[in-house]
Amino acid sequence: MLIPTTVFCALRCPECGCLEVYSLSLFALGGGRSCWLECSCGTPLLGIGRQKGNCCWLQLNCTMCGNSHFWPVARRDLWGGSLRTLICEDTGLEVGFLGPGHLVRRAVTLHERSLAELAQDLGLVGEGWLGNACGGNNNTEA
Ligand SMILES: [Zn+2]
Ligand SMILES: [Zn+2]
Repeated sequence: MLIPTTVFCALRCPECGCLEVYSLSLFALGGGRSCWLECSCGTPLLGIGRQKGNCCWLQLNCTMCGNSHFWPVARRDLWGGSLRTLICEDTGLEVGFLGPGHLVRRAVTLHERSLAELAQDLGLVGEGWLGNACGGNNNTEA
């Protein structure tokens, strides 16, 4: 199987409420480096780093609880071609998706739809961060 060298990540910014899809190249993590995905407003969202061997870590600035979460992951889990859902350990809510572009895009669509339905049920339509998703700049060409 061909290993993809780019992984996509959908994250919502705790500062501006913007939901965007980011791409991350495997090569950005060469030689034990780490990198941070940043919102267009400059807020760091997700850190990804590499440790010795095939271990990686993810650190998320969580939209839901305001804390950060840290997960050790195997490199093959990041670039393995399947979708990984990032879940807030404090609230149990989905806070992001990581994986191949088409799977991330589908997850975001389903996620937005369920949030919209939830908001409708609660009578929250048009209020708060649910109505705040940015258009454009969703670079998921996969
Ligand atoms: Zn932002
Ligand atoms: Zn959290």
